[in-house]
Amino acid sequence: MSGFPFDPPPKTTLPIVGSELRFPVNRVYCVGRNYAAHAIEMGNDPNRGTPFFFQKNASNLDSSGFFPYPDKTTEVHHEVELAVVLQSGGSNISIAEALDHVYGYAPSLDMTRRDIQAEQKKLGRPWEISKAFERSAPIGPIHPVTEVGQLREGRVSLRVNGVVRQEGDLNQLIWKVPELISYLSEYFELAGGDVILTGTPSGVSSVQRGDIMEAKIAGLNVMRIKVV
Ligand code: MN
Repeated sequence: MSGFPFDPPPKTTLPIVGSELRFPVNRVYCVGRNYAAHAIEMGNDPNRGTPFFFQKNASNLDSSGFFPYPDKTTEVHHEVELAVVLQSGGSNISIAEALDHVYGYAPSLDMTRRDIQAEQKKLGRPWEISKAFERSAPIGPIHPVTEVGQLREGRVSLRVNGVVRQEGDLNQLIWKVPELISYLSEYFELAGGDVILTGTPSGVSSVQRGDIMEAKIAGLNVMRIKVV
């Protein structure tokens, strides 16, 4: 006999620009405070120190174009981020070889229940209930490196209802993409399908139902998300 006692949950997959293939998601790592201006706006030290990570669930990624306003919060913030997706992995990957593991890039949003996160920080508790809720990570289609190359610099911005709220440049990342991959691979055995959200520039703020968020990263298609 083989099989499952009930239907297994569906595997999360993401569309790929210019392809019928789908990108199969494994894990989702998010880095905190990776732009100095955002660290400062949140009241933190912008110095490099060591990076820190939290995780979202694969099923939190959502390419539907809609963000349902979540329960248990009155302050949901947008965080526009470059997502890096891997085609392969391993442990103790060197910085020099890290980009060989990148399949592509996508615009993404690390949506956050900021009011709950502030409480969790005060209590010294983990952030999951503020970060890893259903559909908390809208993400655009994957742009393969074979089409767009490696992204090292370029404007990152988020507009809400046409007004620029967040703005930065990929060259302002405190921890660059190869460093993030290398560092993570010292603690985890990375694998194809892993997704890394690389942190947000300054200007995070609240959204309301009906808002239109437009995430724009140089070299990638604009991602439009409606808050419903
Ligand atoms: Mn973030």
